[in-house]
Amino acid sequence: MGLEQYHQKRSFQVTPEPQGKVTKKGPGKGHKYVVQKHDASHLHYDFRLEWAGVLLSWAIPKGPSLDPSVKRLAMQTEDHPIEYASFEGTIPEGQYGAGTVELWDRGTWEPEVPDVDAALRKGDLKFTLHGNRLKGSWVLVRTRGLGGNQNRSAWLLIKHRDEYASTKDVTTDPRSVSSARTLAGISKIAKAKRSQGERAGAAKKTVRAKRAQPAARAKVRGRSIS
Ligand code: MN
Repeated sequence: MGLEQYHQKRSFQVTPEPQGKVTKKGPGKGHKYVVQKHDASHLHYDFRLEWAGVLLSWAIPKGPSLDPSVKRLAMQTEDHPIEYASFEGTIPEGQYGAGTVELWDRGTWEPEVPDVDAALRKGDLKFTLHGNRLKGSWVLVRTRGLGGNQNRSAWLLIKHRDEYASTKDVTTDPRSVSSARTLAGISKIAKAKRSQGERAGAAKKTVRAKRAQPAARAKVRGRSIS
């Protein structure tokens, strides 16, 4: 576990995503849980659980289901920094994961097993979610030989039967739990910010260019009496 892969895949001069670092904290505090709806080359839901100083991450193409008879494919991806749990915005074109990220659900989670690391190694993690949209008991179970391969990154996310189980489609509400914006709204704001930044950058360049001319500099000095 670590953030090497996460850091290798991104250039933090370009992407607004947090660089972050492994953040260990004392025992007894709640573990963060977050789902980010990600409109990348294929729309998916990034399911993240805080563990051992990072966010363990799975990409769920169809999103979670509240129906215990439905198993949703969850591909484990690189660990993310804990700071990522509050990220919402647009990853620019040409960057890893380019596209808009919406905070679709957040809260805390608790393991239903005594040894989380052993459960992860075994590929059978039972846990309880305390989110805005996802609650109650769930399991992530690693699948073997899916499609004939031995890919250890393929897991299934399944809802356990409890009072939060339902046949209602939980993915129909399109709004962020943080900003109440839709993917389109988040993307529009990110675009506006970027062009504002570009305009400010251009204005600074013009000022620098003017200051670089000795005559202009003399004029500025002559006038600056205050
Ligand atoms: Mn993603």
